[in-house]
Amino acid sequence: MLTTRVADNAYDVALENFDTAANALGLDNDTREMIKYPERILMVTVPVRMDDGHIHRFEGFRVQHSTVRGPAKGGIRFHPQVTLDEVKALATWMTWKCAVVNIPFGGAKGGITCDPKSMSPTELEHMTRRYTAAILPLIGPEQDIPAPDVYTNPQTMAWIMDTYSMTKGYSIPGVVTGKPLSLGGSLGRNEATGRGAFYTLEHACEHLKLPMKGATVVVQGFGNAGSIAAELLHKAGAKVIAVSDSTGCVFNKNGLKIPELIRHKVSSGRVAEFAGSEAISAAELLAMACDILVPAALENAIHSDNAAAVRAKIIAEAANGPITPAADRILEANGIFVIPDILCNAGGVTVSYFEWVQDEQHLFWEAQDIYNRLERVMKNSFADVLKIHLDHKVPMRVAANMLGIGRVAEAMKLRGVYP
Ligand code: NAD
Repeated sequence: MLTTRVADNAYDVALENFDTAANALGLDNDTREMIKYPERILMVTVPVRMDDGHIHRFEGFRVQHSTVRGPAKGGIRFHPQVTLDEVKALATWMTWKCAVVNIPFGGAKGGITCDPKSMSPTELEHMTRRYTAAILPLIGPEQDIPAPDVYTNPQTMAWIMDTYSMTKGYSIPGVVTGKPLSLGGSLGRNEATGRGAFYTLEHACEHLKLPMKGATVVVQGFGNAGSIAAELLHKAGAKVIAVSDSTGCVFNKNGLKIPELIRHKVSSGRVAEFAGSEAISAAELLAMACDILVPAALENAIHSDNAAAVRAKIIAEAANGPITPAADRILEANGIFVIPDILCNAGGVTVSYFEWVQDEQHLFWEAQDIYNRLERVMKNSFADVLKIHLDHKVPMRVAANMLGIGRVAEAMKLRGVYP
């Protein structure tokens, strides 16, 4: 569980991080004005007839932060805490992330404020389809391509793809990524975020001369990103000692059996009450002495009130925005090496890009091709960010933002101002 503070507005964090990197780059004011803010924002009402017959009105958003380097790209989140500011922050980070891994996409994000856990599959389907119809003017394979995020999955993408295709009169798989394989999805997409995070951790361990074999790991959030990262770390010989989800935290000082924990989570829907583990609190989990901490849940997990308690050597941000700027400063002072979100979790959008390319070409690649390409992208991107970190003596987050923002700024300057 998180100890999130509502006071940390994710969009304020995104703007502050932008300013820090733009200052470090010496970016001129005109370019800042052109690239800092979302290009388009759509707020939609999503009426859904619930199973008991009444109509419930949900609020949905789609934010296109940037299309400077290509079509807008970003996931869709279903969560009770979704707000416009959160979606704007997530869309902003997508722009810099796509630029860090140098794929030809801009940034976007979508979300619906809802509690998907309390909804039936029929209600979820109706909500997804009506939301798709409402954001139809913005999305499309050449315009804006959604993907899964928190509490959305390949089935959600299949509904979006079908709804969009029905309005056009033919199948258009390239309108979303993270689809099921049978609908033009890509091998390797489901595990891409966790796998990409794992690759960045391999490079971080090498840089810090910390052997991965035997390294102790704590993972906050055991969904798509967190569970795959945990599984790959476990396979590489690291010892995952604590894991949490929204229902609780489990701990075993000798290491949790991750494949069994994944089965337990799939069958029971929770990590709690896993055989051979003891329950701990969310605060204890974050403060646990370990080599690697992987926040893989939501924003602002590590903030000014709990950052000083963190005793990890490396933090790998599988989640977007899990550390506030104030917490960043505390972690930096304590010598903790942070692999920032726009680098660490960029494996997801990278394989989304591979999926989109395959859909556009109607030609599909083998899993090993995808892993090899992903590994190369993550390796090169890590090296690019590390070089800026070392050359400019700035924290890894500032270095990653300098790389991403610098690339978007360059593209913007070349395009110029229309009209
Ligand atoms: P998911 O829905 O698959 O999993 C989310 C997990 O977080 C669940 O296990 C849930 O129980 C847990 N969680 C929710 N609230 C929590 C809390 N308060 N404390 C502890 N755990 C909590 O979502 P996901 O796709 O794995 O996304 C997780 C993070 O990774 C998000 O920040 C998302 O933006 C980021 N991310 C995901 C992808 C992707 O491809 N899925 C790509 C890039 C970044």
